[in-house]
Amino acid sequence: MEKKGWDGFEIGAMLRTFDGAVSDIATTLPENRPYSQSSSFTASVADWRIEKPLFNKDYCIDCQFCWIYCPDMSIISRDKKMIGIDFDHCKGCGICVQVCPTNPKSLLMFAEQKDEESALSEWPQKEKKADTEVKED
Ligand code: SF4
Ligand code: SF4
Repeated sequence: MEKKGWDGFEIGAMLRTFDGAVSDIATTLPENRPYSQSSSFTASVADWRIEKPLFNKDYCIDCQFCWIYCPDMSIISRDKKMIGIDFDHCKGCGICVQVCPTNPKSLLMFAEQKDEESALSEWPQKEKKADTEVKED
């Protein structure tokens, strides 16, 4: 099928997500699904980002919050373990970083050009709780 831009379709055209009949989509990994050329899965939005999330597995507790809340299904999870980010589809919104509950966070936003090794070397340390003041009567 010829690949068209959004303005190459007739008004009211029906765009199919998959090529041909599909079954067991829920159990088929996204990269193995027969997405059609008119599905947004076949387009990369990597050049939309100015910041990207990077992942530090040392602190991750596999809670899956990032996977649940990512609006672009760009968190890659296998067998309930967070394993990384799909940078072809991540738009850099930062929601995954906001919802990550660990201390320090297991996901942080960095400039798009940042390399992973230097990001990991700058990762913040665990924040200690402020001492609670004991009031005397
Ligand atoms: S930055 Fe946004 S789009 Fe990218 S993985 Fe996180 S929640 Fe998903
Ligand atoms: S939200 Fe944070 S701790 Fe939870 S799976 Fe994602 S990266 Fe790991």
